[in-house]
Amino acid sequence: MPLHLTFVTSAKRHADLPDTPCEVAFVGRSNVGKSSLINALANQRQLAKVSNTPGRTQLLNLFRLPTGGTVVDLPGYGFAKVPGREKAGWRAMIEGYLLEREGLELVLVLVDGEIGPTKLDVQMLDWLRANEVPHTVVATKLDKVRPSKLATRRKQLAAGCSLAEGDIMWASAAKGTGIEAMQRHLLALLTP
Ligand code: GDP
Repeated sequence: MPLHLTFVTSAKRHADLPDTPCEVAFVGRSNVGKSSLINALANQRQLAKVSNTPGRTQLLNLFRLPTGGTVVDLPGYGFAKVPGREKAGWRAMIEGYLLEREGLELVLVLVDGEIGPTKLDVQMLDWLRANEVPHTVVATKLDKVRPSKLATRRKQLAAGCSLAEGDIMWASAAKGTGIEAMQRHLLALLTP
């Protein structure tokens, strides 16, 4: 069943977001397929913007379900062309949110299923572990991995993330694979 997400607000600081009983956040490298995945989970084409312009001012975007639970789309990391000052700003915004947000139940860390994890993904995972922030890895773009390569790719990706294969959820926003399982999982988490 699609997640009936309604856009509520965008904010620069987590302190400006509305209170929530339970929340799931999405984070990942720019271009990992985050917007496409959120749109697929909600079965809406334009909910989260696909392919944001690199370097554009990015904000914390909050969506709400009829249950009252919320979803936050965090700005993508890893644009090489962004100046250091702006990078530091994103980092402070994301880290402040992840460490201090009340009601945050789970962070979904998106990793490109075809090429991931990247160095920045591993840094993010190490940071989440060090700070004991609950998280799950979602491998995106499953349809881009050839069936003959899938078993090896699943092993490589899990090893790169220092996780067991079974700990990783795989999905394809393009083909819809894995979407229903994620919808069920998220709906359960986001029902107070
Ligand atoms: P974001 O920057 O993380 O929000 O990534 P987008 O959702 O904008 O996707 C980045 C690019 O990857 C776009 O060209 C998408 O069409 C493509 N993409 C996203 N999800 C999938 C997928 O499941 N399969 C394939 N083949 N391409 C995808």
